Amino acid sequence: MGGINIPHMAGYMPLREAIARKVQFLYTTELNPETDITVTPGGTYALYTALTTILQPGDEVILFEPAYDSYLPGIEANQATAIPIPLSFPGYTVDWALVRNKITERTKAIIINSPHNPTGSILSNEDILELKKIVDDTDLYIISDEVYEHLVFDGLEHNSILRYPDLLSRSFVAFSFGKNYHCTGWKLGYCISSPYLMSEFRKVHQYNSFSCDTPKQVALSTFMNVKEHYLDLGNKMQQKRDYFKSLLSTTQLKPLISHGSYFQCYSFEEVSDEKEKDFAIRLTKEYGVTAIPVSAFYKNATDNKVIRFCFAKQNATLEEAARRLSKLK
Ligand code: PMP
Repeated sequence: MGGINIPHMAGYMPLREAIARKVQFLYTTELNPETDITVTPGGTYALYTALTTILQPGDEVILFEPAYDSYLPGIEANQATAIPIPLSFPGYTVDWALVRNKITERTKAIIINSPHNPTGSILSNEDILELKKIVDDTDLYIISDEVYEHLVFDGLEHNSILRYPDLLSRSFVAFSFGKNYHCTGWKLGYCISSPYLMSEFRKVHQYNSFSCDTPKQVALSTFMNVKEHYLDLGNKMQQKRDYFKSLLSTTQLKPLISHGSYFQCYSFEEVSDEKEKDFAIRLTKEYGVTAIPVSAFYKNATDNKVIRFCFAKQNATLEEAARRLSKLK
């Protein structure tokens, strides 16, 4: 079923085949495009659909804070409870002992996100092995948000859940063409899972968007076959990050560590003792530079005097921002 005018509910087959080839090439995992991949209207939709597929009222879902802002409403709309665990400041790493302590008989899933929005931290192979130890011998699901899979810097590699077949069997892994290929407005992504979980996921997808529009799927099925379109993205974005950091080195803002994503966090501790939100508003109003207060990504009130900049901008824009921020008081 599914010609070019009416793509299959799970996605235009040549696109699913191209995704499977890319996954085989990058992560050496063989996927069946028939059963393991569903094309979705964006990564956020894939995450929400995964949550709706598995959650029942009263379930608990562990997430790490700061957290991409769609997780919490996605959990709560399904009448489940979010159990936020703070990432250790300032490296934004996971304290796996804390995770063990938070697991109850109601825990249904753990959401991970690497490279991480808003901090740019990434999960190491050791992190994934810790996660594996925790979920082994349980029925826990993993929802892995990997929309920034190509944006990993400093010679590190992306530890996709797709590299770990025994974790993939209990996981939903979300990707975004918008993030990968810089077409965020296109709202196209995909979810990868094991055949049984994916068949359940498709039952939710069927009565939600049913399918995604054809032209973008046809275009991307051709575009993503060219490896050069994604292999160099990490290097290019690392150059942007480094350029941005060098420009801001003349300001009083102090960079935190970011190994990936579009984001670089800065501490403004040496500039002001304002709340993050107030400082961010003042930056916008007085200097015309907008950053996001990292406190906006927490359910549990947390204010470390950190703001998040997005450096995926033209160099001229970054230069102008730095010029304005050099006057920061
Ligand atoms: N996850 C994270 C961590 C994100 O930062 C974003 C986009 N801001 C998404 C998912 C959503 O991707 P999409 O635009 O494809 O819905």
